[in-house]
Amino acid sequence: MTTQQKVNLLGLSRPQMEEFFLNMGEKKFRAQQVLKWIHHHQADSFEQMTDVGKALRQKLSEVAEIRGPEVAHESISRDGTRKWVFELSGGGSVETVFIPDGRRGTLCVSSQVGCAVDCSFCSTGKQGFQRDMTSAEIIGQVWQASRAFGPRRNLGEHPITNVVMMGMGEPMLNYDNVLTAMRIMKDDLGYGIGKKRITLSTSGVIPKMDQLSQDLDVALAVSLHAPNDELRNELVPLNRKYPLKELMAACKRYSDNITHRHNTITMEYVMLRDVNDKPEHARQLVKLLNGIPVKVNLIPFNPFPHAGYERSRKSDILEFHKYLNDNGLLTTVRTTRGDDIDAACGQLVGQVQDRTRRSERWKQSIFHRSEQKTDNNTAQA
Ligand code: SAH
Ligand code: SF4
Repeated sequence: MTTQQKVNLLGLSRPQMEEFFLNMGEKKFRAQQVLKWIHHHQADSFEQMTDVGKALRQKLSEVAEIRGPEVAHESISRDGTRKWVFELSGGGSVETVFIPDGRRGTLCVSSQVGCAVDCSFCSTGKQGFQRDMTSAEIIGQVWQASRAFGPRRNLGEHPITNVVMMGMGEPMLNYDNVLTAMRIMKDDLGYGIGKKRITLSTSGVIPKMDQLSQDLDVALAVSLHAPNDELRNELVPLNRKYPLKELMAACKRYSDNITHRHNTITMEYVMLRDVNDKPEHARQLVKLLNGIPVKVNLIPFNPFPHAGYERSRKSDILEFHKYLNDNGLLTTVRTTRGDDIDAACGQLVGQVQDRTRRSERWKQSIFHRSEQKTDNNTAQA
């Protein structure tokens, strides 16, 4: 047994894998073989890699491993949404959600254990920040979800067609690991998910938005939630560091910089009753977003215990929606999915116990199911 820590090959992008093999004195093409075994065939041992010679397999098992997060719990919602709680070998647990929608299947992936941004309406924020996830832990969620769907024949048939970095954590505050994981998602030797089908959602870390536009111009979603600084400071504390005027300029730069034609940025706006859902907020929003290629996604607030907020009334959501659309902002209302298994936006906390009881308790008191049937929409977290 070696005392040296084994390299987890699950978290290596193609160039990193090539470097790994070159450092071992092996040929570069080994990287391609191994990437395919890991991500196309979901292999978790070198023994399975039949086109790799026995001696090299032996050598690999001494210095490397393929270690994904452990499934601690899996639940399936009555609407088909699936949620996994993953136990991480590096400590802590996170949640990952799969949302089927016709031919599209969206996986909502976590990037940190907890979150330091501490938005006032988010249960992940309420649990505080524990640590960054490694690239292996981030891509490991895609790997494990793929394993749950069984072996695949080719890239086009895979049930995971889209990924949204909208699970637990602020992806821009764990930039390098998230970038590596997204590169593996996009790579044909990984999951072959095009960059327009990978969406990163951020609470507005401006320098990283600029960097991302250079590194990997995936689709961007920005958690706006308020049309003026006073309110946004309260809801998204990061606004004190990166206020709205600068954030809007950064969004404009991102959309100008990206190469593909779909340069629209999604503005996420959680609907909090009597907090940010009044006609004056809608008017301010139209002004604020003027000149930036955006679509607006209204997210009816998903309650959790001691949240201190309520979901907006259906009539207020509809009025808000109509005002934005009538004033030239393409706006949709996100359908709540997987709420019966606590898989909806902002409900992810990485816990296994006490879930059923907790769920039932607040569904009876706060949750208004009848308010959900607005219209369909993009993926959600
Ligand atoms: N940290 C990133 C991505 C994860 S959160 C970000 O904030 O953008 C994904 C989306 O869910 C964000 O827009 C977030 O603001 C929203 N969200 C958080 N808590 C929510 C809640 N309780 N109800 C509805 N949406 C929520
Ligand atoms: Fe963190 Fe996003 Fe939750 Fe804010 S909304 S606390 S940035 S996970």
